[in-house]
Amino acid sequence: MSRIVLEARDVRYQYPRSREAITGISFHVRRGEKIALVGPNGAGKSTLLQMFNGMIRPTSGILLFDNEPVRYDTRSLRQIRRRVGFLLQNPDRQIIAPTVYQDVAFGPTNLGYDEAAVKAAVEVALRQVGLEGFERRPPHHLSGGEKKRVAIAGVLAMDPDVLVFDEPTTGLDPSGSEDLMELLDELNHAGKTIIISTHDVELAYPWADRVILLADGRIIREDVPDVAFGNPTYVRMAHLSVPTLLELSVELEKRGFTIPKRKPRSVLDMVHIIENHLHGSCGHPSPGTITVCNVDEGDTGTLASWVKARTIVVGAMGTRAKQCAEREALPLEFTYGVIDKCILRALRGKDSLILTTGSMVGRVAVRVEAYAKESGTTIRVVSLDPDGQPSQNG
Ligand code: ADP
Repeated sequence: MSRIVLEARDVRYQYPRSREAITGISFHVRRGEKIALVGPNGAGKSTLLQMFNGMIRPTSGILLFDNEPVRYDTRSLRQIRRRVGFLLQNPDRQIIAPTVYQDVAFGPTNLGYDEAAVKAAVEVALRQVGLEGFERRPPHHLSGGEKKRVAIAGVLAMDPDVLVFDEPTTGLDPSGSEDLMELLDELNHAGKTIIISTHDVELAYPWADRVILLADGRIIREDVPDVAFGNPTYVRMAHLSVPTLLELSVELEKRGFTIPKRKPRSVLDMVHIIENHLHGSCGHPSPGTITVCNVDEGDTGTLASWVKARTIVVGAMGTRAKQCAEREALPLEFTYGVIDKCILRALRGKDSLILTTGSMVGRVAVRVEAYAKESGTTIRVVSLDPDGQPSQNG
């Protein structure tokens, strides 16, 4: 199990002339985890999140970062703010400079990086969020989703270990929200610990490794999502609702379906349960193939004709893969939850192509293997070079 990166020990906080907003909270976050702090408005989520990088100092109790108590002198605060990046709900409050470049450069410049290092940090950060080429644009002319990405790049430019997002999808439409949650996954995959606050149970349930239910300034429950949301009494205490997939699985269980110990967290999990119940197996006698293409690894100019020559649908995983699809005019069927959707398709005997980049290529094989272990159904994963040559069988 990985190291604890953040810890709260019996923290309390009271705003001046107000009742206690945080009433004695203890928990920890491990390196690499995806944590969702879930609770209704006024639960204390924002207050708690702001303690993680020292913006709010607890009235009592302590916060630890890397096992060291957070200190509140200017130098220590600068240090913790570099290690724990904070994204406000409203990016307009975070973006301060007249151009994207200047805004993203603000953090590393303040940290005393020289000009070349600032330039390199901005370049990497903009690439990570898919905003290469936006350097000279005025941030206030960008869309809501793009502004969020500028704010995220500003934080990433300081290369923090932990990213804290207060209500990350506020103000975004459903597809913008999906893109943003995928960016969070991408950053997590690149090694960042991610903590979000939300009141959206449907968003938190499939995404988080661990959920902390918060209400009236205290923790109601803290566990893996199916357990944390699994007890309706606690969910009611937190003024939330049970995620649909979990509710459905309870109803199916009452009707004689076999529900695995780890409750369904995706449509794929649910289809698996239903197919098993109806047919005793969960797939086509000859499942389709999933082809994976790392679009960073060559010229993608012939991909469109490769796709056209086949009965295949295309999904893109990650910011750069989506940009590649747009550039090459490849019609995208899937842009979120891509691996599961391609597995579902393979289970109907149909093929798909996943476009992705560097570190996420391996995720496909890992997920498909995990699925094979759970279900007993093996799906073939094949790699493809961007120029259309099969490179190896997975
Ligand atoms: P959430 O993020 O879950 O909506 P908050 O942390 O914003 O909750 O608020 C927790 C409690 O603290 C609420 O009762 C809220 O009214 C109160 N509160 C938040 N900000 C302030 C403030 N600046 N001054 C006084 N009370 C505040």
